[in-house]
Amino acid sequence: MNSRRFAFSSVLCLGLFFNSCGWVVETAFPISLDEFLGKQFYDAAVQGKEGMHVLRNERLRTYVQDVASRVLKAKEIRFKQEFPYKVTILNDDSVINAVCAPGGYIFVYTGLLHFIKDEATLAGILAHEIAHAEKRHSMKQLSSSIATYFAIYLVLAYVLGPDLAQHASGMASISSNLLSLANSRGAEEEADALGFQYMRATPYYPGASANFFREIKRWRQKHSGDKEDSLPLGKYLSTHPMDDDRIADNEKRLKAAGIGEPKPESFFRERYRQKIGALLGDTKGEE
Ligand SMILES: [Zn+2]
Repeated sequence: MNSRRFAFSSVLCLGLFFNSCGWVVETAFPISLDEFLGKQFYDAAVQGKEGMHVLRNERLRTYVQDVASRVLKAKEIRFKQEFPYKVTILNDDSVINAVCAPGGYIFVYTGLLHFIKDEATLAGILAHEIAHAEKRHSMKQLSSSIATYFAIYLVLAYVLGPDLAQHASGMASISSNLLSLANSRGAEEEADALGFQYMRATPYYPGASANFFREIKRWRQKHSGDKEDSLPLGKYLSTHPMDDDRIADNEKRLKAAGIGEPKPESFFRERYRQKIGALLGDTKGEE
């Protein structure tokens, strides 16, 4: 390795070590890396690794995908071409959560589909998850825990050429802990704010996701004596901070945008009830 390359790699290592979330990802990580990493995670899910069970119910998947597609019409979404924004349903009624792997691979647990009551709330949650992928939040999180790996990887790419596939095997293991990755408070706020903007392009009430927070709050109060991590919401709460601030912020955004009280029909509650009843109710446990 010549001295120029050595200097480059040293600077890169330092940069990655001291800048766990921010400009390093924006400037040094090609966007194709997000898609590549997300695909490894998606493949692992399809193969049933890491305790994940993909629900093979194409009609239900298409229904949820259609809700996501309405959100994806928002002009603020930048990576429509680069990211597949593909919805996958994970069969686990005990988990009330949705996650988005880098590159726009969205995973929705059956527990969440049972928990929520209308399509607008689902759209709000999907919009929030899409925002995480757009802002590359998990890439930023990952960059702190795997700084060394990426530094080595990027140096290799610099020396050998950017052949991502060459390093596939190593990358796959990194992606496996994505589901438990908690975003920073700032990232959550950013995803809420962006998700709200995306929702404005849809036929849904943009403030709908606040219903989900209220629902969780009620549910939490009901189970206040129980041990948190034993509850279905444990995983949601460990990856999403939950307090009144998110509800209050949502109210502020609605006010600033001049959006008044919602019309009941902008929640699509009945359509949701019917679809989930027909597609999930009857096919629960189908693999
Ligand atoms: Zn989030």
